[in-house]
Amino acid sequence: MKVIAIDGPAGSGKSTVARRLAEHLGLEYLDTGAMYRAVTFAALRRGVDPADADDIATLVPQLELEVGGDTVRVDDVDASIEIRGPEVTRAVSVVAANPRVRADLVRRQREWAQSRDGGVLEGRDIGTVVFPDAVLKVYLTARPEIRAARRSKEVSDLSYEAVAADLARRDALDEGREASPLTQADDAIIVDTSDLSVDDIVAQLAGRLP
Ligand code: C5P
Repeated sequence: MKVIAIDGPAGSGKSTVARRLAEHLGLEYLDTGAMYRAVTFAALRRGVDPADADDIATLVPQLELEVGGDTVRVDDVDASIEIRGPEVTRAVSVVAANPRVRADLVRRQREWAQSRDGGVLEGRDIGTVVFPDAVLKVYLTARPEIRAARRSKEVSDLSYEAVAADLARRDALDEGREASPLTQADDAIIVDTSDLSVDDIVAQLAGRLP
């Protein structure tokens, strides 16, 4: 099984790089952040409090999640737009800190890769927890102001300051949580994407494949 793990904080370039690398290698791509967002969307839609660990843990196994390309479906409802909205973005890190949510989604991520004999997966814990034996582990970073500028381009209804503050808050939650915190795997290739083009990064990573 050929798994490529791409981890890093929001705005580090993970999605762009993971998609392009997958295309370049003829592999499929999975955005695991979209799965945590989809669970958060489902909770908000059903009036379940994202901070209620027991209620969220009961909800997760019941959900039918379909993540493919740019489309995310939860129980057959297209949630592709809403999972990127401010309500979901505000609540997602609390949901992602729930160990029972993580256990369920990690199982689904492993099944996804096994059924395809590999793929490119991006997230926060892919190289450290989900696939510690990945053939290639990448940790992307970028300067905070670059990450905030990239995210602000994607969301038109929030100011740069609001986006920067949200990123800092999510970084702190993702790095500080007990269950699978965001951290660099010892054997990951670390790339600061601040001043590099996507083509350069993809070429550099493809060249590191065994
Ligand atoms: O990548 P994205 O910003 O869409 O991820 C949303 C949130 O999902 C992150 O802030 C993080 O809390 C959580 N996440 C995670 N583990 C992953 C992917 C995402 O905890 N593998």
